[in-house]
Amino acid sequence: MEGSAIRRIWQMAAGMKDPINFSIGAPDFSPPEPLKQGALEAVANDCSTYTVTQGLPELREKLAGRVGEEFGWSDPSVLVTCGLSGALTLALLGTMNAGDDVLVVDPFFVSYRQLVRVFGGRPVYVDTYPDFRLTGEALEAAVTAKSKLLLLNSPANPTGAVYSEAELREVADVARRHNLLVLSDDIYQEFCYEGRAANIADYYENVIVMRAFSKTYGAPGWRVGYVAAPDHLAKVVDAMATVQQYTFVCAPHPFQRALLAADACDVSEHIAAYRRKRDAVYEGLKDDFELTRPEGAFYAFVKAPGADAMAFVERAIKANVLIIPGGTFSQRDTHFRLSYATSDEQIEEGVARLRGLARG
Ligand code: PLP
Repeated sequence: MEGSAIRRIWQMAAGMKDPINFSIGAPDFSPPEPLKQGALEAVANDCSTYTVTQGLPELREKLAGRVGEEFGWSDPSVLVTCGLSGALTLALLGTMNAGDDVLVVDPFFVSYRQLVRVFGGRPVYVDTYPDFRLTGEALEAAVTAKSKLLLLNSPANPTGAVYSEAELREVADVARRHNLLVLSDDIYQEFCYEGRAANIADYYENVIVMRAFSKTYGAPGWRVGYVAAPDHLAKVVDAMATVQQYTFVCAPHPFQRALLAADACDVSEHIAAYRRKRDAVYEGLKDDFELTRPEGAFYAFVKAPGADAMAFVERAIKANVLIIPGGTFSQRDTHFRLSYATSDEQIEEGVARLRGLARG
């Protein structure tokens, strides 16, 4: 496994004084009060034991009710995991055999390439440059006889792309034709700036949705997420629970308990603030850089001048601005990722500096 370039960039940042930090992949708000209160109470009440591997029954019931309603699933299977990373690890270990091909949409979230490889699979990339749209045609062209899984992430890290209903229908057609199991990484589900993000599970039946509370509630360190699947995939979720028994054992008990109050929490103000930040970044960069307008998550994926990401990232660091080179998230290294989960002042100043660099 290669170490994440994001960590390397952070190490470089350690020597910088008050950098404008566009490198962070986590929200810049803290968890809502009811959740914090719930966590404090859970600790005070000694919720320090293991929970059952599958997660607190009350929490699973709530989550099953929610996804059941969303997708019309009558008896969904739910497993509470250690964040989305836990869900992803269990989903891959629970479904993939060594030698299987896994379809990965490029650009992709950092862990996909590394985890698929280390678990003995072969990532097969579906290139979506330059506009980061996923077409049925591109997907079809990438399918091999050994393709078993498709990793999908919408809203997407690092591009901010949100797939439309029409695109997802095309994806569903290809998946059905080749009997693919789709692992849908919905971590930015709430961070969609044009209404509800359509989901592949609306159009296809062989889907495991993977979700987490990390971004939605500004609680990445709480390490709670879940997988959910329709009842005909119950066995697959059971296989993941078996893997969890021997690995993570269970998600952190106090935070599982705190998240029982999640229904009462409204993060719409934060989402509205991120929509404004998205606009500020897009409007600020579009005349000097090639970029698509992000529709979700909190990233812009911008073409570097001369299509040389690393060279531009080094120039940006000299200007005290931290961005991440695209090669971290892609087979290409032509773009950079900018996270706008930061203050309006940092965005204004950082965007001005990047513009200055582009103008030479
Ligand atoms: N999936 C995507 C697309 C992400 O961007 C991230 C975190 O940045 C994760 C998964 C990991 O999430 P978690 O912190 O819940 O493990």
